[in-house]
Amino acid sequence: MSSTIRSNGPSPSVREATAQRDRVRSLRRRERAEVVLVAACLVSVIVAVMLFLTSGRPAQIADLASAVTAAGIVTGLVGSDLLLLMLVLAARIPWVDRTFGQDAAIRLHRRLGKPAVYLILGHGALIIVGYSLRDGLSLWHQTLSLFSGADMLLAWLGTGLLLVVVVTSLVVVRRRLAHEVWHAVHLVSYAAVLVAVPHQLSAGQVLAGSTVQTFYWICLYVLAFGSIAWFRFAAPLLATDEHQLRVTAVEPLSPGVFSIHLSGRDLSRLGVRGGQYAIWRFWSRRTWWHAHPISFSAVPIDTEARLTVRALGAGTKRLARLKAGTKVSFAGPYGIFTDAARTAPRLAVVAAGIGITPARALLEDTDLARGEATVVLRATDRSQVFLWDETERLVEQSGGAVVEMIGRRPSGQSSWMSADAVTRGASIVAVLPDLLDSDLFVCGPGDWADLVVGEARAAGLPERRIHVEKFV
Ligand SMILES: Cc1cc2nc3c(=O)[nH]c(=O)nc-3n(C[C@H](O)[C@H](O)[C@H](O)COP(=O)(O)OP(=O)(O)OC[C@H]3O[C@@H](n4cnc5c(N)ncnc54)[C@H](O)[C@@H]3O)c2cc1C
Repeated sequence: MSSTIRSNGPSPSVREATAQRDRVRSLRRRERAEVVLVAACLVSVIVAVMLFLTSGRPAQIADLASAVTAAGIVTGLVGSDLLLLMLVLAARIPWVDRTFGQDAAIRLHRRLGKPAVYLILGHGALIIVGYSLRDGLSLWHQTLSLFSGADMLLAWLGTGLLLVVVVTSLVVVRRRLAHEVWHAVHLVSYAAVLVAVPHQLSAGQVLAGSTVQTFYWICLYVLAFGSIAWFRFAAPLLATDEHQLRVTAVEPLSPGVFSIHLSGRDLSRLGVRGGQYAIWRFWSRRTWWHAHPISFSAVPIDTEARLTVRALGAGTKRLARLKAGTKVSFAGPYGIFTDAARTAPRLAVVAAGIGITPARALLEDTDLARGEATVVLRATDRSQVFLWDETERLVEQSGGAVVEMIGRRPSGQSSWMSADAVTRGASIVAVLPDLLDSDLFVCGPGDWADLVVGEARAAGLPERRIHVEKFV
């Protein structure tokens, strides 16, 4: 889609009004979908508890021992339900991505993590206490007795694996681990959930039999593992096979920054929106083991796509030496850093360094009205001025404004602007005069993006109009 071409058809003001009406409708659709998703999570937990309460087992509660055991079963059910919901949220289901954005889905996934693990641990503790009251054994002997039988051993193994996942997710530990190590350990959570199934069949009687409760849990397991199997593995494999992507060239742009040009088949069928990213794996001897999330720096045409990369760590440095012909697999496209997320009549973009990539593609894919966009391009120095000419052309063709801001941030002050601009007393509303009438798209390093967003919020921009893509 061109950013500027205006020919026959409705007048600009009619087009703008129609575009704005479509944005409001799409916002309402997304808000409804969000409510549905959160409600579905809640309902799922309530159903899990209700099915237990109506299963006849509560009627067997006769004393303290059976009451504690029943409480243990309920905590186990709610914990398992949350774990399965976490898998659904991490499955990269396109509908969830379009509604929430994968980032937000993963944030919810993380927020459910702690309660889920506490509930699973609580489940184990309550069952031990309940059984020991029933059997008159000490807690220690009761615990040992639960280490018998393959099903229970697997359940303990599952709990242990979950603890490993939790410990490696702690911020201090995660920072010390290479991304691939952390990712591999995290995949263990799938195994942790699966190995608990046998004890649910034998001890829990939840999956055994042919009750509504059994049916519910089987559906939930199929939904969680089916979504992971399909959306994380099968669909990317099929898309990779269908589109046959290969590297055609690596083009240096600036020290440590390069574009990777790709060729493929029927790429327009991917439906990539400007601003989206995919998770890429380049099948060379030195790069195949590390997948990277990288944005499209241009909207793909049917046979060509382009990514632009800044060599940050060892993995991205190796991409600079990719040879023409290297096979490429991918999962995606993902993300809602796109025109479709807009709700306001004007567009404000602030991009720093390599954050220019989705910002440029977003502008390319937006049907801009005259003067609709204002773009701030930030760089520490001239070596970071890449893709600026293309981006500026896209904005200026539609009569928009571009503010170039080059220079280091002031030391000892938390500002996203250059020291120069801060000295001149510049503010976000000074560089983006239409901010309060705009959607703000921010892309760049995480701490820098937080400062931009903080200032926009303080200026009164509502949350739903702030769209952020943090690279690291
Ligand atoms: C949505 C999104 C879009 C991005 N788009 C671009 C882009 O267009 N151009 C560009 O140059 N960079 C982009 N990045 C950043 C890029 O993914 C990382 O710089 C790159 O993966 C780092 O890998 P490395 O091996 O060089 O560095 P490492 O030293 O391995 O890692 C450096 C940092 O990147 C993080 N990282 C590494 N691998 C991944 C991964 N698979 N998923 C998430 N984080 C990871 C690490 O946790 C660490 O914080 C994007 C990131 C995200 C999340």
